[in-house]
Amino acid sequence: MSKRKISKKMIQIITQKRIRTLFSLAESKVKQKDITLANRYIIHARNLSMKNVSPIPHDLKHKYCKYCYSYLYPQLTCRIRINHGRIIKQCFHCKKITRIPLK
Ligand SMILES: [Zn+2]
Repeated sequence: MSKRKISKKMIQIITQKRIRTLFSLAESKVKQKDITLANRYIIHARNLSMKNVSPIPHDLKHKYCKYCYSYLYPQLTCRIRINHGRIIKQCFHCKKITRIPLK
């Protein structure tokens, strides 16, 4: 019996779905104050996106720290301020600042 081939587009769709479920799991874990497990989910989602060459969706891209890959949740893992038309996020884990322009 030959192995069934899955098209590249199908792989992309499955990967996007998995990334979204991993991010929602990470959010629920952060709310339960289990930050280390949430960070593991983010690293897993990132590895999935790199392995299958499928980008992390734009709305989820700013939900994790781009320096240490920890999940950013206001007041629990990061601080959010708005200044000069930019969103400023400070990660509590690595203390680095990310600035996102407001449109
Ligand atoms: Zn960080």
